[in-house]
Amino acid sequence: MKQYDIIVIGSGAGLIVMESAIAMGLSVAIVERSKFGGTCLNRGCIPSKMLVYPADMIREAALAHRVGVHLGTPAADWDVIAQRMWAQIHHSEQLAQNLRDFPGVDVYEANAEFADPHTLRLTFPAPQADALIAAKRIVVAAGARSFVPPIPGLAETGYITSETFFGALFPKAPWKRLIIIGGGAIGAEFAHIFSAFGSKVTVVEMRQRLIATEEEEISHFVEKQFVHNGIEVLTNHKTLSASKQNGEKVLLVQDTATGQTRSIPTDEIFIASGVRSNSDQLHCEVAGIAMDDKGWIITNEYLETSQDHIFAIGDINGLYQFRHKANYEAGLLSHNLFSGGEKRAACYNAVPWAIFTWPQVGHVGLTEQEAKQQGLKVRTAVNYYSNVVAGIAMGFSQQDEDNGFVKIIIGEDKRILGAHVVGPHAAVLVQPFVYLMNAGLSCDLAQPPAAERPLQRERRLIRRNCISTGTVMPIMNSMVIHPSFNELTAWALENVDWNDEQ
Ligand SMILES: Cc1cc2nc3c(=O)[nH]c(=O)nc-3n(C[C@H](O)[C@H](O)[C@H](O)COP(=O)(O)OP(=O)(O)OC[C@H]3O[C@@H](n4cnc5c(N)ncnc54)[C@H](O)[C@@H]3O)c2cc1C
Repeated sequence: MKQYDIIVIGSGAGLIVMESAIAMGLSVAIVERSKFGGTCLNRGCIPSKMLVYPADMIREAALAHRVGVHLGTPAADWDVIAQRMWAQIHHSEQLAQNLRDFPGVDVYEANAEFADPHTLRLTFPAPQADALIAAKRIVVAAGARSFVPPIPGLAETGYITSETFFGALFPKAPWKRLIIIGGGAIGAEFAHIFSAFGSKVTVVEMRQRLIATEEEEISHFVEKQFVHNGIEVLTNHKTLSASKQNGEKVLLVQDTATGQTRSIPTDEIFIASGVRSNSDQLHCEVAGIAMDDKGWIITNEYLETSQDHIFAIGDINGLYQFRHKANYEAGLLSHNLFSGGEKRAACYNAVPWAIFTWPQVGHVGLTEQEAKQQGLKVRTAVNYYSNVVAGIAMGFSQQDEDNGFVKIIIGEDKRILGAHVVGPHAAVLVQPFVYLMNAGLSCDLAQPPAAERPLQRERRLIRRNCISTGTVMPIMNSMVIHPSFNELTAWALENVDWNDEQ
């Protein structure tokens, strides 16, 4: 049996740790059972954005008349759009080839599962026989996969997930009718994509509102725009069954408030109801790795698991499932494992994200509701696109229903607790708040006692270096480029009543 200093399972963010280990001259193995590059490259962030941008252009074209430009009805060339998307995914093949040729690493294109805490059993495609490999240290970066709810008749009726959509079931043309089960970030992105390309989209969501991670008014704002763009939004609806009738797929849904049921015929059913951990397929329990009740591997702030020699990063630890979060953890773990320097702790108080739907949503930190639930005193700063020249130039006016806004959540000592934007460039507009929330703050926590470690899910910052860092003061004391969208966020602070703490 081959022995290594370190084995990395998963070639998404895991590649970052692998490269660091190789640079240290360690003996390294990487195991990947699917396409190299992980979810983001092959069936997530990157290919979806290749579809989002053309969809954005279609929506923008429809609004261009507001600024005196008549673009007519845009014609989307699905073949070209698809080719551009596949070209991104095909980078995975080059990546795989580079890795196979890379000196200092053994690449196993196999499924891994734990045989004992230091040993993995590898299953290769037939006819290659199984193999065992072992290591002193193992990094689990094996991610997550779509969660498919147990809907009666679904398997027989047929459905797609992001995995099969960016794979064998990619359509030759946009479907005429599409039902998306799940109104979270991924469901909202695909609803935007396909409605822009002309599909009649229905979103079925069990919860009371779409994109429920967001500020309530942002959820409602997005829902209004969905409806405006012809997307049917069925919140408070659960799916009872799926079936095939007269050659077409039919979904039976129920309004959980009224109990009323309804059958919706469709050409395809897209399951976007969240993700589940890949830890079950790895048999993490065999290695004695502690997991929560959903199978997410429990890590402390050093990305250590309950086993001293096993580490977990990215989606599989269940914390904020974004590629930039996985990369951050991979960088931090590489530092802690290989630099010999003082250990760094992961902080999750300012994890940003964007939902690339229409309108776009940017998010960092707490929502107003979350802050209040934590007993924090908050003020909010709100400003609309129509209140700044950059927004007016784009055609926004006060009475427009799609007049987006920023909402900044401010705590005691003017500390930024969160920032939320809905509208054009929301992702860009939120980013400065991330920097500010992190500016000057330190996360050098003492190593918690070993017994406490497996239970430690998240650590928030406990030390403040400077009274004004992480507050809105640096924004209020800065010059702001005119006319730019930076005015949208900075000038929101002028609308705060500092005497009115809720
Ligand atoms: C449609 C969609 C859109 C998204 N858009 C965004 C976005 O815009 N921005 C963003 O930040 N995030 C986005 N995400 C989320 C993002 O893709 C993930 O958070 C990120 O890829 C997680 O990285 P990871 O390294 O933890 O796992 P992955 O990238 O999933 O890598 C895990 C790897 O491990 C392999 N593996 C799993 N089990 C085994 C096993 N037993 N043996 C061998 N190999 C195994 C898998 O094949 C996979 O390649 C999106 C996700 C989806 C599905």
